[in-house]
Amino acid sequence: MFSKKVQAISPSPTLAIDAKAKQMKADGIDVIGFGAGEPDFDTPVHIREAAIKAINDGFTRYTPVAGSADLLEAICQKFRRDNGLQYEVKNIVVSNGAKHSLANAFAALLNPGDEVIVPAPYWVSYPEIVKMNDGVPVIVETVKENNFKITPKELQQALTDKTKAILLNSPNNPTGQVYNRAELEAIADFAVEHDLYVVSDEIYEKLIYGGEKHVSIASLGEAIKERTIIVNGVSKAYAMTGWRIGFTASTATLAKMMSSLQSHMASNANSIAQKATIAALSGPQDCVAEMRAAFAARRDAMVEKIAAISGLSCIEPLGAFYVFVDVSGMLGRSCRGRTIKTSDDFAAVLLEEKQVTVVPGTGFGAPEFIRLSYALSMEKMLEGLERIDAFVRSLE
Ligand SMILES: *Cc1c(COP(=O)(O)O)cnc(C)c1O
Repeated sequence: MFSKKVQAISPSPTLAIDAKAKQMKADGIDVIGFGAGEPDFDTPVHIREAAIKAINDGFTRYTPVAGSADLLEAICQKFRRDNGLQYEVKNIVVSNGAKHSLANAFAALLNPGDEVIVPAPYWVSYPEIVKMNDGVPVIVETVKENNFKITPKELQQALTDKTKAILLNSPNNPTGQVYNRAELEAIADFAVEHDLYVVSDEIYEKLIYGGEKHVSIASLGEAIKERTIIVNGVSKAYAMTGWRIGFTASTATLAKMMSSLQSHMASNANSIAQKATIAALSGPQDCVAEMRAAFAARRDAMVEKIAAISGLSCIEPLGAFYVFVDVSGMLGRSCRGRTIKTSDDFAAVLLEEKQVTVVPGTGFGAPEFIRLSYALSMEKMLEGLERIDAFVRSLE
């Protein structure tokens, strides 16, 4: 009998769909993929050059487990500059991507049976990472009327004497929604009052469109800062998904625990990627602005097009690079004798009929939605949306 715990984990559905689109492309099929969970841009040149220099300088050995001293300092500066947060190097742990940072965070926080409140729609990996660490994900459905943002009232309903932490993700994947300061203050007050931790995944902090500003919940006061583990990284902001660098900011006690754990699981994150990350965080930031501008233009075009497709709707996303589309109006319709009962069916039939991949909401805890990524060229995106429009029109 193999591990019951590991057998209870389901593989990441978003990675699977993206892999399918890539395979179809490789087979010469004209597929348009809205499944991408990563920027379509190349890593900016000055960041790549820093990595090449690191190799040529021989920066190719083990570093301290939590990260090299210069990188930890650059991360502290980033928190001061971007978030108004004072951390010291002893508060920071650098890992193999933000996903690894999340795994460290829950490993450090949870004892068997501890509950973590995970607002739905949620990023697919949160419940699985909690389960991997013997915790119990308590899924709380948020409502569209509140732009899928969790409220203290909903938190209160989910609270038990086993509740240990709240998972927060703003800007949010998959909904694209952003919590404002007042909303975060309410959650921070709740966490402090009930002695809970907050794991705050801020990986999309740089990708916000329009007037909203990113606020880190940890910046709302000493009490909440003490109870927050911030998770961030360079994957999304600097188009560095393959480099695998993420980091946490927490109390020194928690940082020490995560670092000890990591010392036996993975040692340090890649030394070359650490140097590239210094260039990303401390170098010129115009590359981020350029990518954000391209994403913003695509977001506008996608939202406009979705609104024009009869039967589909979405709430305007304010951040990340996804549009979360309500397909409840499609359920019960049929295509050449096949009835579409779920968003999984919608995605499967759409792929067959029009060679377009989208991610069904099931994996995000929102079965009547699909997630469309706009991390693809404007041209491909518009063509893909035309195909979706034609598909929807063809449904009976
Ligand atoms: C992409 C993503 C991550 C993981 O980032 P990596 O640094 O590539 O591990 C974490 N959280 C969310 C919500 C994401 O979308």
